[in-house]
Amino acid sequence: MQHSNNTKPVALITGASRGIGFEIARHFIAAGYRIAICGTRTETITAAANDLSKEYADAEVLPLTVNVTDNNAIVAMIKDIISNYNRLDVLVNNAGITRDKLIMRMKDDDWQAVIDTNLSSVFYAAKAAIRPMMRARFGRIINISSVVASTGNAGQVNYCASKGGVEAMSRALAREVASRGITINSVAPGFIETDMTDDLSAEAKKKLISDIPLQRMGKPADIAAAVLFLASENAAYITGQVLHVNGGMSM
Ligand code: NDP
Repeated sequence: MQHSNNTKPVALITGASRGIGFEIARHFIAAGYRIAICGTRTETITAAANDLSKEYADAEVLPLTVNVTDNNAIVAMIKDIISNYNRLDVLVNNAGITRDKLIMRMKDDDWQAVIDTNLSSVFYAAKAAIRPMMRARFGRIINISSVVASTGNAGQVNYCASKGGVEAMSRALAREVASRGITINSVAPGFIETDMTDDLSAEAKKKLISDIPLQRMGKPADIAAAVLFLASENAAYITGQVLHVNGGMSM
Protein backbone atom coordinates (compact mmCIF):
# COMPACT_ATOMS: atom_id res chain seq x y z
CA MET A 1 0.00 0.00 0.00
CA GLN A 2 1.17 3.52 -0.78
CA HIS A 3 1.54 6.27 1.80
CA SER A 4 -2.03 7.29 2.64
CA ASN A 5 -3.42 10.67 1.61
CA ASN A 6 -6.16 11.53 4.13
CA THR A 7 -7.98 13.94 1.84
CA LYS A 8 -8.92 11.18 -0.62
CA PRO A 9 -12.31 9.57 0.04
CA VAL A 10 -12.51 5.93 1.06
CA ALA A 11 -14.84 3.21 -0.23
CA LEU A 12 -15.34 -0.34 1.05
CA ILE A 13 -16.61 -2.86 -1.47
CA THR A 14 -17.63 -6.28 -0.17
CA GLY A 15 -17.25 -9.38 -2.35
CA ALA A 16 -14.75 -7.74 -4.68
CA SER A 17 -12.44 -10.61 -5.61
CA ARG A 18 -14.18 -10.95 -8.98
CA GLY A 19 -17.31 -10.14 -10.96
CA ILE A 20 -19.33 -7.00 -10.27
CA GLY A 21 -17.52 -6.19 -7.00
CA PHE A 22 -14.09 -6.21 -8.67
CA GLU A 23 -15.33 -3.87 -11.40
CA ILE A 24 -16.87 -1.53 -8.81
CA ALA A 25 -13.48 -1.47 -7.07
CA ARG A 26 -11.76 -0.55 -10.37
CA HIS A 27 -14.24 2.26 -11.00
CA PHE A 28 -13.72 3.74 -7.53
CA ILE A 29 -9.92 3.67 -7.88
CA ALA A 30 -10.15 5.31 -11.29
CA ALA A 31 -12.35 8.00 -9.72
CA GLY A 32 -9.69 8.78 -7.09
CA TYR A 33 -10.91 6.81 -4.09
CA ARG A 34 -8.79 4.80 -1.69
CA ILE A 35 -10.48 1.44 -1.29
CA ALA A 36 -10.84 -1.59 0.93
CA ILE A 37 -12.10 -4.83 -0.57
CA CYS A 38 -13.14 -8.08 1.08
CA GLY A 39 -13.83 -11.68 0.17
CA THR A 40 -13.79 -15.02 1.96
CA ARG A 41 -10.47 -16.23 0.52
CA THR A 42 -7.14 -14.55 1.21
CA GLU A 43 -5.58 -15.78 -2.01
CA THR A 44 -8.23 -14.38 -4.35
CA ILE A 45 -8.80 -11.09 -2.55
CA THR A 46 -5.03 -10.45 -2.42
CA ALA A 47 -4.73 -11.32 -6.11
CA ALA A 48 -7.53 -8.85 -6.89
CA ALA A 49 -5.74 -6.11 -4.92
CA ASN A 50 -2.47 -6.89 -6.76
CA ASP A 51 -4.20 -6.69 -10.14
CA LEU A 52 -5.68 -3.30 -9.24
CA SER A 53 -2.32 -2.00 -7.99
CA LYS A 54 -0.65 -3.12 -11.22
CA GLU A 55 -3.27 -1.35 -13.33
CA TYR A 56 -3.26 1.88 -11.31
CA ALA A 57 0.20 2.83 -10.07
CA ASP A 58 -1.12 5.20 -7.37
CA ALA A 59 -3.91 2.86 -6.17
CA GLU A 60 -4.39 2.45 -2.43
CA VAL A 61 -6.09 -0.91 -1.91
CA LEU A 62 -6.58 -2.70 1.40
CA PRO A 63 -7.51 -6.37 0.86
CA LEU A 64 -9.30 -8.01 3.80
CA THR A 65 -10.26 -11.65 4.28
CA VAL A 66 -13.75 -11.33 5.74
CA ASN A 67 -16.81 -13.51 5.48
CA VAL A 68 -19.72 -11.09 5.51
CA THR A 69 -21.94 -13.55 7.40
CA ASP A 70 -19.70 -12.98 10.45
CA ASN A 71 -20.86 -9.90 12.34
CA ASN A 72 -17.75 -9.71 14.55
CA ALA A 73 -15.48 -9.92 11.51
CA ILE A 74 -17.38 -7.05 9.90
CA VAL A 75 -17.05 -4.86 12.99
CA ALA A 76 -13.31 -5.62 13.05
CA MET A 77 -13.05 -4.86 9.31
CA ILE A 78 -14.58 -1.39 9.71
CA LYS A 79 -12.17 -0.70 12.60
CA ASP A 80 -9.26 -1.82 10.42
CA ILE A 81 -10.34 0.52 7.63
CA ILE A 82 -10.69 3.48 9.97
CA SER A 83 -7.28 2.83 11.51
CA ASN A 84 -5.69 2.53 8.03
CA TYR A 85 -7.44 5.35 6.24
CA ASN A 86 -8.98 7.48 9.05
CA ARG A 87 -12.35 7.66 7.30
CA LEU A 88 -15.04 5.70 5.49
CA ASP A 89 -17.15 7.58 2.96
CA VAL A 90 -18.81 4.83 0.93
CA LEU A 91 -19.95 1.29 1.71
CA VAL A 92 -20.96 -0.93 -1.21
CA ASN A 93 -22.68 -4.11 -0.03
CA ASN A 94 -22.05 -6.30 -3.05
CA ALA A 95 -21.15 -9.78 -1.71
CA GLY A 96 -23.87 -12.23 -2.60
CA ILE A 97 -24.60 -15.85 -3.46
CA THR A 98 -27.34 -17.95 -5.05
CA ARG A 99 -28.53 -21.44 -4.02
CA ASP A 100 -31.29 -21.97 -6.58
CA LYS A 101 -33.87 -24.74 -6.19
CA LEU A 102 -37.62 -25.06 -6.43
CA ILE A 103 -39.12 -24.68 -2.98
CA MET A 104 -39.99 -28.37 -2.61
CA ARG A 105 -36.30 -29.23 -3.00
CA MET A 106 -34.86 -26.24 -1.18
CA LYS A 107 -33.14 -27.24 2.05
CA ASP A 108 -33.32 -25.06 5.16
CA ASP A 109 -29.60 -24.57 4.73
CA ASP A 110 -30.09 -23.18 1.18
CA TRP A 111 -32.52 -20.67 2.61
CA GLN A 112 -30.36 -19.70 5.57
CA ALA A 113 -27.07 -19.40 3.66
CA VAL A 114 -28.60 -16.98 1.16
CA ILE A 115 -30.37 -14.91 3.83
CA ASP A 116 -27.18 -14.74 5.93
CA THR A 117 -24.92 -13.78 3.01
CA ASN A 118 -27.20 -11.43 1.08
CA LEU A 119 -29.38 -9.84 3.76
CA SER A 120 -28.02 -10.15 7.32
CA SER A 121 -24.59 -9.07 6.06
CA VAL A 122 -26.06 -5.78 4.84
CA PHE A 123 -27.51 -5.11 8.30
CA TYR A 124 -24.17 -5.89 10.00
CA ALA A 125 -22.08 -3.79 7.61
CA ALA A 126 -24.48 -0.84 7.52
CA LYS A 127 -24.68 -0.78 11.32
CA ALA A 128 -20.89 -0.81 11.68
CA ALA A 129 -20.28 1.76 8.91
CA ILE A 130 -22.93 4.20 10.05
CA ARG A 131 -21.07 5.05 13.26
CA PRO A 132 -18.09 6.76 11.53
CA MET A 133 -20.40 8.16 8.83
CA MET A 134 -22.60 9.82 11.47
CA ARG A 135 -19.53 11.36 13.09
CA ALA A 136 -18.46 12.69 9.68
CA ARG A 137 -22.03 13.79 8.87
CA PHE A 138 -21.51 12.24 5.46
CA GLY A 139 -21.90 8.79 4.01
CA ARG A 140 -23.11 6.78 1.06
CA ILE A 141 -24.33 3.20 1.36
CA ILE A 142 -25.12 1.39 -1.88
CA ASN A 143 -26.60 -2.07 -1.72
CA ILE A 144 -26.56 -4.45 -4.68
CA SER A 145 -30.00 -5.95 -5.07
CA SER A 146 -31.39 -7.71 -8.17
CA VAL A 147 -34.14 -7.30 -10.73
CA VAL A 148 -35.77 -10.46 -9.30
CA ALA A 149 -36.57 -8.58 -6.08
CA SER A 150 -39.29 -6.86 -8.15
CA THR A 151 -40.19 -9.54 -10.69
CA GLY A 152 -39.80 -12.77 -8.70
CA ASN A 153 -38.09 -15.81 -10.23
CA ALA A 154 -39.01 -19.47 -9.98
CA GLY A 155 -36.28 -21.41 -8.18
CA GLN A 156 -35.10 -18.38 -6.20
CA VAL A 157 -37.46 -17.89 -3.23
CA ASN A 158 -34.42 -17.54 -0.95
CA TYR A 159 -32.57 -15.11 -3.24
CA CYS A 160 -35.67 -13.01 -4.05
CA ALA A 161 -36.54 -12.77 -0.34
CA SER A 162 -32.98 -11.66 0.47
CA LYS A 163 -32.89 -8.96 -2.22
CA GLY A 164 -36.42 -7.73 -1.48
CA GLY A 165 -35.32 -7.48 2.14
CA VAL A 166 -32.26 -5.46 1.14
CA GLU A 167 -34.39 -2.95 -0.77
CA ALA A 168 -36.93 -2.58 2.07
CA MET A 169 -34.15 -2.27 4.67
CA SER A 170 -32.48 0.41 2.54
CA ARG A 171 -35.65 2.51 2.53
CA ALA A 172 -36.07 2.25 6.31
CA LEU A 173 -32.43 3.10 6.94
CA ALA A 174 -32.55 5.96 4.44
CA ARG A 175 -35.24 7.58 6.58
CA GLU A 176 -33.26 6.99 9.80
CA VAL A 177 -30.02 8.61 8.67
CA ALA A 178 -30.99 11.21 6.07
CA SER A 179 -30.71 14.06 8.59
CA ARG A 180 -27.03 13.08 9.12
CA GLY A 181 -26.08 13.55 5.48
CA ILE A 182 -26.06 9.82 4.75
CA THR A 183 -27.86 8.40 1.72
CA ILE A 184 -28.83 4.75 1.25
CA ASN A 185 -29.72 3.41 -2.18
CA SER A 186 -29.88 0.09 -4.01
CA VAL A 187 -28.74 -0.85 -7.49
CA ALA A 188 -30.73 -3.72 -9.01
CA PRO A 189 -28.79 -5.44 -11.80
CA GLY A 190 -30.49 -7.52 -14.46
CA PHE A 191 -28.62 -10.34 -16.15
CA ILE A 192 -24.87 -9.63 -15.89
CA GLU A 193 -21.86 -11.56 -17.29
CA THR A 194 -20.10 -12.99 -14.20
CA ASP A 195 -19.36 -16.36 -12.60
CA MET A 196 -22.85 -16.19 -11.06
CA THR A 197 -24.52 -16.46 -14.47
CA ASP A 198 -21.83 -18.60 -16.10
CA ASP A 199 -23.54 -21.88 -15.20
CA LEU A 200 -26.55 -21.15 -17.41
CA SER A 201 -26.69 -23.15 -20.64
CA ALA A 202 -26.22 -21.36 -23.97
CA GLU A 203 -29.88 -22.03 -24.67
CA ALA A 204 -31.05 -20.52 -21.37
CA LYS A 205 -28.88 -17.44 -22.02
CA LYS A 206 -30.31 -17.04 -25.53
CA LYS A 207 -33.85 -17.18 -24.14
CA LEU A 208 -33.04 -14.64 -21.41
CA ILE A 209 -31.36 -12.26 -23.88
CA SER A 210 -34.39 -12.42 -26.17
CA ASP A 211 -36.42 -10.89 -23.30
CA ILE A 212 -34.00 -7.96 -22.87
CA PRO A 213 -34.94 -4.92 -24.99
CA LEU A 214 -31.27 -3.87 -25.29
CA GLN A 215 -30.53 -7.40 -26.63
CA ARG A 216 -27.44 -8.22 -24.59
CA MET A 217 -26.32 -9.29 -21.16
CA GLY A 218 -25.08 -6.50 -18.92
CA LYS A 219 -21.41 -6.09 -18.13
CA PRO A 220 -20.02 -5.55 -14.62
CA ALA A 221 -19.00 -2.04 -15.79
CA ASP A 222 -22.68 -1.20 -16.42
CA ILE A 223 -23.35 -1.79 -12.72
CA ALA A 224 -20.14 -0.17 -11.50
CA ALA A 225 -20.98 3.08 -13.33
CA ALA A 226 -24.39 3.24 -11.59
CA VAL A 227 -22.82 2.61 -8.18
CA LEU A 228 -20.19 5.29 -8.73
CA PHE A 229 -22.92 7.75 -9.72
CA LEU A 230 -24.89 7.06 -6.52
CA ALA A 231 -21.71 7.66 -4.51
CA SER A 232 -21.03 10.96 -6.27
CA GLU A 233 -21.97 14.52 -5.36
CA ASN A 234 -24.34 14.47 -8.36
CA ALA A 235 -26.53 11.97 -6.46
CA ALA A 236 -26.68 14.01 -3.23
CA TYR A 237 -30.48 14.41 -3.43
CA ILE A 238 -31.23 10.73 -4.10
CA THR A 239 -31.98 8.43 -1.17
CA GLY A 240 -34.11 5.35 -0.49
CA GLN A 241 -34.25 4.52 -4.19
CA VAL A 242 -33.65 1.48 -6.35
CA LEU A 243 -31.74 2.15 -9.57
CA HIS A 244 -32.55 -0.59 -12.11
CA VAL A 245 -29.74 -1.47 -14.52
CA ASN A 246 -31.11 -4.29 -16.63
CA GLY A 247 -31.24 -3.35 -20.33
CA GLY A 248 -34.97 -2.80 -19.98
CA MET A 249 -35.82 -6.38 -19.01
CA SER A 250 -38.23 -5.10 -16.37
CA MET A 251 -40.13 -1.85 -16.83
P1 NDP B 1 -19.83 -13.54 -8.27
O1 NDP B 1 -20.28 -14.89 -7.84
O2 NDP B 1 -19.12 -13.38 -9.56
O3 NDP B 1 -18.92 -12.89 -7.12
C1 NDP B 1 -19.37 -12.85 -5.79
C2 NDP B 1 -18.37 -12.13 -4.93
O4 NDP B 1 -18.85 -12.14 -3.59
C3 NDP B 1 -17.02 -12.81 -4.94
O5 NDP B 1 -16.01 -11.82 -4.85
C4 NDP B 1 -17.06 -13.64 -3.66
O6 NDP B 1 -15.74 -13.82 -3.20
C5 NDP B 1 -17.87 -12.72 -2.74
N1 NDP B 1 -18.55 -13.43 -1.65
C6 NDP B 1 -19.45 -14.44 -1.72
N2 NDP B 1 -19.83 -14.82 -0.49
C7 NDP B 1 -19.17 -14.02 0.38
C8 NDP B 1 -19.12 -13.93 1.79
N3 NDP B 1 -19.85 -14.73 2.57
N4 NDP B 1 -18.31 -13.00 2.36
C9 NDP B 1 -17.55 -12.18 1.59
N5 NDP B 1 -17.55 -12.22 0.26
C10 NDP B 1 -18.34 -13.14 -0.35
O7 NDP B 1 -21.14 -12.64 -8.20
P2 NDP B 1 -21.56 -11.34 -9.07
O8 NDP B 1 -20.41 -10.46 -9.24
O9 NDP B 1 -22.34 -11.80 -10.22
O10 NDP B 1 -22.61 -10.68 -8.05
C11 NDP B 1 -22.32 -9.58 -7.23
C12 NDP B 1 -23.62 -9.08 -6.63
O11 NDP B 1 -24.53 -8.73 -7.66
C13 NDP B 1 -24.35 -10.10 -5.76
O12 NDP B 1 -24.93 -9.48 -4.65
C14 NDP B 1 -25.42 -10.63 -6.69
O13 NDP B 1 -26.51 -11.14 -5.98
C15 NDP B 1 -25.76 -9.39 -7.47
N6 NDP B 1 -26.39 -9.65 -8.76
C16 NDP B 1 -25.73 -10.30 -9.77
C17 NDP B 1 -26.37 -10.52 -10.98
C18 NDP B 1 -25.73 -11.21 -12.12
O14 NDP B 1 -26.41 -11.41 -13.14
N7 NDP B 1 -24.46 -11.58 -12.06
C19 NDP B 1 -27.75 -10.07 -11.18
C20 NDP B 1 -28.33 -9.39 -10.07
C21 NDP B 1 -27.67 -9.18 -8.92
P3 NDP B 1 -15.19 -15.20 -2.58
O15 NDP B 1 -15.91 -16.32 -3.27
O16 NDP B 1 -13.74 -15.16 -2.86
O17 NDP B 1 -15.50 -15.07 -1.14
